[in-house]
Amino acid sequence: MTRRMKAHVRHFLLLPFILLLGGCYSVPVTGRTALNLVSDKEVTKMSIAAFNDMKGHFPISRDQERIDQLRRVGERLERVIPWWDMPDADWEFVVFDVPQEINAFAMAGGKVGIFTGLFKVVQNDDQLASVLAHEIAHVTAKHVQERLSREMAKETFGVVIAPVTLVQQATGATKSDLTFDRDKEREADHIGMIYMAEAGFNPQEAIKVLERLEEVTGGQTVQQAFLSNHPSTPERIQNLTDELPKAMIAYEQSKHQAAPTIIK
Ligand SMILES: [Zn+2]
Repeated sequence: MTRRMKAHVRHFLLLPFILLLGGCYSVPVTGRTALNLVSDKEVTKMSIAAFNDMKGHFPISRDQERIDQLRRVGERLERVIPWWDMPDADWEFVVFDVPQEINAFAMAGGKVGIFTGLFKVVQNDDQLASVLAHEIAHVTAKHVQERLSREMAKETFGVVIAPVTLVQQATGATKSDLTFDRDKEREADHIGMIYMAEAGFNPQEAIKVLERLEEVTGGQTVQQAFLSNHPSTPERIQNLTDELPKAMIAYEQSKHQAAPTIIK
């Protein structure tokens, strides 16, 4: 059998596997259709294991004020995430005592962590909510699954299954990993801003926290910062400013949600 034939057989054998797991999903808030070839359950299982590893690896903060703040903000965000966007969620919020790390993360299964360095940037609950909501948005938009699916598609078919723009068709260029990352960051910013607004946090603070980050990091893209692989801060601020009117509507609506419905 030639190498080419072997490769063909390999693809043929893999095909049912992919078709079995394969499917499209609609990204929350943006409605973008994306491909998912991996099992959500597996991703959740791996995420829980990784989170438990982190809890063994990094010191856990005993600063009750910070722990309470994270829980207070996290629990409000948790309530606006539909269960189907965070399946099998057993929400957990942990403050890691690592002052040099300006960072936060969220994982499938509702696992959320922040590093104490983040408090150099974040000044209030709304700003913390904006960072957490961005991280949670990466999970509900299944960006990890999409990246893995993209790798699998490249391996199996030798093509990138991703939206191809007219410019890319004309030039024959495919989306670079960097572009992929930046698109996902932009999407997480957009979704996160809506989540925080729905949870009753002021979305204007999402812009302020980025300005704070610029101040603290001296305008540099710091590797450690939760910005790594993100578009430049001025670009993010511009994108968020564009989305702000919609987020403000969601914010105003969130204030009236607890009010009784008036039936005329
Ligand atoms: Zn991000």
